[in-house]
Amino acid sequence: MRRSPNLQRLTTNYIFIEVKKRVENYLKNHPHERRLIHFGVGDTTHPFPDIVAEGLSEASLGMATEVGYKGYGPNFGLESLRETVSKVLYDGKFSLDEISISDGIKPDLARFALLTGGGQKVAIQDPSYPVYLESSFIIGNQVTLLPATKENGFFPDWCLLKGPHLLFICHPNNPTGYTAIRAQLQEVVNHARKEGMLILFDTAYRSFITDPNIPRSIFEIEGAKECAIEWGSFSKSAGFSGLRLGWCVVPKELKYSTGESILEDWRRVLATTFTGPSYLSQMAALQALSKEGQADYQKIIQGYLENGKLLKNALSSKGVSCYGGEHLPFVWADFSPHLSWDTFDTFLTKHQLIVTPGSGFGSSGEGFIRFSALGKRPDLLEAISRLLL
Ligand code: PLP
Repeated sequence: MRRSPNLQRLTTNYIFIEVKKRVENYLKNHPHERRLIHFGVGDTTHPFPDIVAEGLSEASLGMATEVGYKGYGPNFGLESLRETVSKVLYDGKFSLDEISISDGIKPDLARFALLTGGGQKVAIQDPSYPVYLESSFIIGNQVTLLPATKENGFFPDWCLLKGPHLLFICHPNNPTGYTAIRAQLQEVVNHARKEGMLILFDTAYRSFITDPNIPRSIFEIEGAKECAIEWGSFSKSAGFSGLRLGWCVVPKELKYSTGESILEDWRRVLATTFTGPSYLSQMAALQALSKEGQADYQKIIQGYLENGKLLKNALSSKGVSCYGGEHLPFVWADFSPHLSWDTFDTFLTKHQLIVTPGSGFGSSGEGFIRFSALGKRPDLLEAISRLLL
């Protein structure tokens, strides 16, 4: 087989692979140094609430019975879960056909890239969650990067783009922590409709929004059904990063420039590339979305957000300018003029803390470090005390 020329565009190392390499190298040369604390990768650490663990074990014990055993499930997810997602997260605004349940946003973005077929114009904020850029490269889409910097308040001017584009928007934003107000999103939606653009809205962190004035979904914005697809995930909101589950909303109103339905093609591509999400994950998700589950998760999320506040205060007291940490479990800290990887190395060798270099999210992230607030509180407090020494 010949190598796809598209793969040659993946020039950078995926950040977490490079972080791992540097950490392993450090450990090899400093085997007796104090314990390293992970402050970087945005993985959750809080255990499941009982109600979710019970839902999971009940479903799995059921699999050992004649009546409870399940084989292949529906391609687009259990009807009961799609109905619950629509009711609990979207006020019942969407029909079951418009919602598909998946094994997470990341694999769904790869499946969406297949649907685009390559050759499309894509606009991505720089810095960004790397999968937008890399999945666009792999399929052969043409990428325009829009810098999100201190100067533009970390919200690029999407309305400068003209003509059909796919706009990847992550809200609340990983890594900058930026959340847009309704009027800003309304302007982007109006522009997208005028120019025939499609907004690809990633709400992986929607549950961390504490201000009711900040939209949790693009579909809170008028006209979005005509120009947006939205993804959500149970990874960060419910600690399912290992269990795997997410969802996608494709409104039936969405049409290609030639008039055909995007939803029909999405379901066609899903049917070919995905055998449906895990039954066990879905049964756990139903518990996570129950009243009791939601109340338990509110407390867990509150704990992560408090971590963010403690972290932000500690860094600010050292004179570091910090962003985010309010509606997102990450703090985006400005160490410029030092380069991100230099600051990463300093944190590793001086404080034995593993952080994520902002430049790994794109060249406009240079100088920044992303700190995760998703760790355990005792680790966080120890990390802070090392920082403040
Ligand atoms: N989207 C963003 C912005 C993320 O930060 C992440 C994970 O870090 C994901 C999507 C991945 O979500 P999932 O675990 O559902 O694949």
